[in-house]
Amino acid sequence: MNIVLFGPPGAGKGTQAKELSKQYDIPHISTGDILRANVRDGTELGMKAKEYMDKGELVPDEVLIGLIKNRINESDCEVGYLLDGYPRTIPQADALASILGEINKPLDAVLNIDVSDDELVARLGGRRTCSCGESYHMKFNPPEKEDVCNACGSELYQRDDDKENVIRQRLTTYNEKTKPLINYYENLGILVNIDGTGTVDGVFADICKVMDQYK
Ligand code: ADP
Ligand code: AMP
Repeated sequence: MNIVLFGPPGAGKGTQAKELSKQYDIPHISTGDILRANVRDGTELGMKAKEYMDKGELVPDEVLIGLIKNRINESDCEVGYLLDGYPRTIPQADALASILGEINKPLDAVLNIDVSDDELVARLGGRRTCSCGESYHMKFNPPEKEDVCNACGSELYQRDDDKENVIRQRLTTYNEKTKPLINYYENLGILVNIDGTGTVDGVFADICKVMDQYK
């Protein structure tokens, strides 16, 4: 099952992908998580990416295309994968199509999680993240113990790009560079719209109904 979880920042892609990855036993590939791990480790890639991420801009296409090509060719992706945060531009989508064409494993579906801008701002502003990859929301999805990760016990933090001025820029970047991919995948006949405004469990159930068709 080769699926893209698509949607603006804060739509709930990461939250859903973690559960879907367990449910369907396929890897969750979040380009944002991979970039943040590189920033944390101080790699050359991380240092280059950080200047864009801090401003709410996209990291250049050539960097992401190389990164995703390597990741998709790893052996755990043979059973399929869930892409989260990639593609974000038309050149990235074209590159993905050509990478997948080479291995003859095209995308099954692009699930477009739809949430209003006001709700996105509220979700991103209250998001708290753990270095282990889990994320919470202070109001909508709080951890059992304040500011502590349920999964690993580490202290939660607010991502630098979840501060208000960067949130606005990320939504602008999404509208300009990423949103056109909705038409791109609609034209290919593989776009499925998901209402992302319900509860985490409700949205999960809706996505499973779609993904069950590709098992
Ligand atoms: P994305 O990966 O699309 O940027 P996240 O999955 O990190 O988004 O979700 C953004 C924030 O919204 C997180 O704080 C998360 O806990 C919260 N959230 C996710 N899904 C829902 C939902 N259905 N209702 C309310 N809050 C949600
Ligand atoms: P995310 O965790 O998906 O919200 O991504 C956080 C940040 O990482 C984005 O605001 C971008 O700066 C960068 N990023 C993640 N994925 C991509 C991508 N596919 N293309 C360009 N930049 C990306």
